[in-house]
Amino acid sequence: MATAKPSPQPIPRIAPREDLNPLRIAQIQFDMAAEYLKLDPGLRQILRSPKRVLEVSIPTKMDNGQVKVFTGYRVQHNVVRGPSKGGLRYHPNVTLDEVKALAMWMTWKTATVNIPYGGAKGGVICDPKRMSKSELERMTRRYASEILPLIGPEQDIPAPDVYTDQQTMAWIMDTYSMTKGYSALGVVTGKPLSIGGSEGRKEATARGVLVAVEEACKVKKIPFRGASVAIQGFGNVGSLVAKLFAEKKARVVAISDSRGGVFNSRGIDPLKAMRYKERAGTVVGMPGTSRISNDDLVTLKCEILVPAALENVITLNNVEQIKAKIVAEAANGPTTPHADEVLARRGIMLIPDILANAGGVTVSYFEWVQDLQSFFWPVEEVNAKLESVMRRAFLEVFESMRKHRTQMRTGAYVLAVGRVADAALVRGLFP
Ligand code: NAD
Repeated sequence: MATAKPSPQPIPRIAPREDLNPLRIAQIQFDMAAEYLKLDPGLRQILRSPKRVLEVSIPTKMDNGQVKVFTGYRVQHNVVRGPSKGGLRYHPNVTLDEVKALAMWMTWKTATVNIPYGGAKGGVICDPKRMSKSELERMTRRYASEILPLIGPEQDIPAPDVYTDQQTMAWIMDTYSMTKGYSALGVVTGKPLSIGGSEGRKEATARGVLVAVEEACKVKKIPFRGASVAIQGFGNVGSLVAKLFAEKKARVVAISDSRGGVFNSRGIDPLKAMRYKERAGTVVGMPGTSRISNDDLVTLKCEILVPAALENVITLNNVEQIKAKIVAEAANGPTTPHADEVLARRGIMLIPDILANAGGVTVSYFEWVQDLQSFFWPVEEVNAKLESVMRRAFLEVFESMRKHRTQMRTGAYVLAVGRVADAALVRGLFP
């Protein structure tokens, strides 16, 4: 059994300037936990690297008749605790190292909330905003068929991530099902309700963020009602964080997307912002708000900061200027290890990604369980189970942090890596 002993470790110094490679960041975070856990060097090597990496070429006929070949990846980091699970990202800046990091974070995330999955992630280098729906469909179906040998309800289960959605999942489910010759509901999660999606999945990541922030507010003795919130990224996750927080009477003072941000100290109505974004394609220019940049949003005076876009948003460049009392990482990997140290020194509570945004994978797990049983639960049941998982996970991470006299991220890592290490040790090494 992996046993944890208190032994505060400084972050390994990697470079005079910050290294923003997500994989190296993920490995630094892992190394810190491995030190606390005194993990065996062989096991460390196993857990530091992905189990499987698949790179595929995706020839796609574009609307103008020409063929364009996209590059895609599917990475499975670890499966000792169950099938691998993780989203699919479409973005021009996708790299293999990013997908490997995201897959590794998924392993720790599923272990943090203690659901029986490993971690995986997919990515395609493309610019979905410049593609038509039919181009996206053809690219998605070809990608699905290229990664088909690796995925399946008992093997590896994709879900939505940046610039992918329910429709993307429906195309993957259909491609997989047509190839197999039967309908396989459990091959992806985050599907539309009509083909085995779960009630509550759409809002699940945001609801998980809400529960984690409510718990953090109790610890920090900040009244949630009336607390000012700045949210970077107004997509699947960020827009619903804004909606759920506003429903609970927090004051959403700033939101943003890739084109910039908007601010109103009296509060922004998230539903109006959603409608405006639907029409205008951005939140920028929303009536009754003033414009701010994404950089200004991160350092805005507010109680709660929610990064809900991409990686490396809180770095040594801006961490000293952060004024929030709680940072809830709805996005994956928004804070660098050096910035983590500064946040901890400054007494700012960070709810790490592998905890804060784990509501999504938790309800994905519920969706998969419902698909496998062909028995579907009402939304109240899904939400109640999600809340209970998230509250328990928050308290376990908080307890781990206290026990090891460290910060929240390392507390979560020690808990999660310990669980994966225990499973790996008890299974033993094949052959
Ligand atoms: P999304 O594509 O729906 O939204 C992304 C948002 O970020 C958009 O509003 C976009 O305009 C904005 N954005 C893009 N580049 C930006 C930039 N440079 N600066 C500011 N904003 C920018 O994606 P999503 O599903 O909401 O995912 C957001 C984050 O949450 C990602 O880190 C993702 O990995 C993480 N996450 C998502 C889920 C999920 O269920 N979708 C679950 C867990 C974690």
